[in-house]
Amino acid sequence: MTDSTCLFCRIISGEIPSEKVYEDDQVTAFKDINPAAPVHILVIPNAHIASLAEVESAHQDLMGRLVVTFKEIAAAQGLAERGYRLVVNCGEDGGQTVGHLHFHLLGGRNLNWPPG
Ligand code: AMP
Ligand code: ZN
Repeated sequence: MTDSTCLFCRIISGEIPSEKVYEDDQVTAFKDINPAAPVHILVIPNAHIASLAEVESAHQDLMGRLVVTFKEIAAAQGLAERGYRLVVNCGEDGGQTVGHLHFHLLGGRNLNWPPG
């Protein structure tokens, strides 16, 4: 469930410092160290899942919990009225650089579409 070599597992455990904005028994959220928008939060499952490609049917409840949590964090960050974007980069072409499933919650400015 935890990979001691994984950056985000080490953030969850507190071994590597981060600015956490939410945590419970299944989900952790913290500020992206290199924000691409005024609000840029990474929302991750506490269990080590390497990417969206590794999600299985056993993770369905966890995925549902994550979706509810996105909404709650967005509201807590003041984004509910103006809106926000959720991004998952998966694999090499998707631009994934950290091998622990994470969802980027971005807001606080008008976001361009399509992304680069
Ligand atoms: P991705 O490119 O989708 O894999 O996103 C990885 C994200 O993790 C990037 O937006 C990085 O800025 C962010 N990141 C990397 N190291 C840290 C860290 N120590 N604390 C917070 N965010 C980080
Ligand atoms: Zn991990």
